[in-house]
Amino acid sequence: MKTPTYLFLILSLFFYNEATAQPDTLAVEKVAGNIWMLRQNSAGNVGVFASNDGFIIVDDQFRTDSEKIRDGLAKIAKLPVKYIINTHWHADHSEGNENFAKTGSVIVAQDNSRQRLTTDQFIELFQMLHAARPWEGLPSVTFTEDITFHERGETIHVFHVPNAHTDGDAIVHFQTSNVIHTGDVFVRYGLPFIDDHHGGSINGTIAATERLLSLANAETKIIPGHGAVSTKQDLMDYLEMLKVVREKVAKGIEQGKTIEQILAEKPAGSFTTFFLVDEFVRMVWRGMQKTRE
Ligand SMILES: [Zn+2]
Repeated sequence: MKTPTYLFLILSLFFYNEATAQPDTLAVEKVAGNIWMLRQNSAGNVGVFASNDGFIIVDDQFRTDSEKIRDGLAKIAKLPVKYIINTHWHADHSEGNENFAKTGSVIVAQDNSRQRLTTDQFIELFQMLHAARPWEGLPSVTFTEDITFHERGETIHVFHVPNAHTDGDAIVHFQTSNVIHTGDVFVRYGLPFIDDHHGGSINGTIAATERLLSLANAETKIIPGHGAVSTKQDLMDYLEMLKVVREKVAKGIEQGKTIEQILAEKPAGSFTTFFLVDEFVRMVWRGMQKTRE
């Protein structure tokens, strides 16, 4: 009986969960000092910094999640959301922008992410259309390389990592508290979705992960785009996984093999993810083709 498997696959792709099907309640987890994480399985992790005069949050999930996020924040403190930093433009990280902007939040993103949000984007792998956002849903502050927020008791450095998960990824480093929100550059569902049709690449993802490692020590708390709060060791294991697959694909290319021959050799081994593993190998392969051009 193949039908249930296919049905599950189609449903997962339709809802673009970037995670396994789980009950959709939003958990409030303390990460460190004045930093929390709001987590549910159907959308990206929300990073929360409670400043003296308002919240700075990282990502705002789907537009239908805004009330849940406000309820979660209310459990932490009675403060307005003054800034929202989008780690990238995918809907499960930025679709709430409009709801929060309407109540006074300032949306901040990397230039390329704002650019993507101004026009329709289609993610082929999930057959998912991200329609252009109305003016209110667009970031009103953007940066090219980096931007710093100077808060009482915390310095927040936000910087661009080029061509990693997308072409507009921002990493959010809470320098004082030693916490990093990585967006989808680092995820805990196994092999990552790399949106290479929108500027993402395996090499950029690896370079970005190496940069993250250079900022981390044994005490660093890492908030991934999806999944549980992680450590430097988790990040090292993730990097190793990416490098193993890239190496095998590169070897196949060097030996003049076709993508079908490379796929037949199962270069991802026992690594898994929420979409078809072969699709990940294809993403890596396409990225290596670009490198060779
Ligand atoms: Zn994403």
